[in-house]
Amino acid sequence: MDLQTIKVGVGKCYIIKQEGTILVDSGTPEEFNKFSEGLKDIGINPKEIKAIVITHCHWDHIGCAKKIKDMTGAKVIVQKYEKNILEKGELAMPPSVTRWGKIFAAFLNSWSKKFSIEPCEADIVLGEEDYSLEEFGIKGKIVFTPGHSPGSISVVLDSGDAFVGDMAMNGLPLTIGPNLPIFAEDMSLLKNSWTKLIDMGVKNIYPAHGKPFPVEKFKKKLVL
Ligand SMILES: [Zn+2]
Repeated sequence: MDLQTIKVGVGKCYIIKQEGTILVDSGTPEEFNKFSEGLKDIGINPKEIKAIVITHCHWDHIGCAKKIKDMTGAKVIVQKYEKNILEKGELAMPPSVTRWGKIFAAFLNSWSKKFSIEPCEADIVLGEEDYSLEEFGIKGKIVFTPGHSPGSISVVLDSGDAFVGDMAMNGLPLTIGPNLPIFAEDMSLLKNSWTKLIDMGVKNIYPAHGKPFPVEKFKKKLVL
């Protein structure tokens, strides 16, 4: 697998290249230049990107979706429970589940209000079933993994690499080391989604915030 990362504001975008190329998430609003410059730096032609998988529709994941879609012509993939947020360009924030999360959220809430998110039309709207990425030249699938938000999805490659959005966070200022997210709609649902991924045999976890880590390092945090 050829994997590239572009930091677009506070969120990370992953570019997965196998036979085909896909993008996971689209970063913070108004940071599109960081994405287009990042693409140039890694030598990827925008037209190579055939799909944009939105792991969930919080503002720091949908921020540049519309502009990236226009630039690449890629199909935007989203789960049906969050389609409206994407298509209306709404500012969605999850509730905090830790003390630090509450403090941090107060800051984020006021900061993120200054953003305007461009609405972006979805091309492929997923249900709760798995969705193969074969049509995009990627050996893997999209799996429904709700909990952080109602329509969270993850990209799980046959290699065991899993791109999980905000199902885990790794590093300051959010968490110390790989951990459960400090924001979540439903923590027990989130843990069930982790069980689902672990049962599928995922090995390496790529969060949207922080560095990748082996799932083994994280299992004890789950207390399933
Ligand atoms: Zn999120």
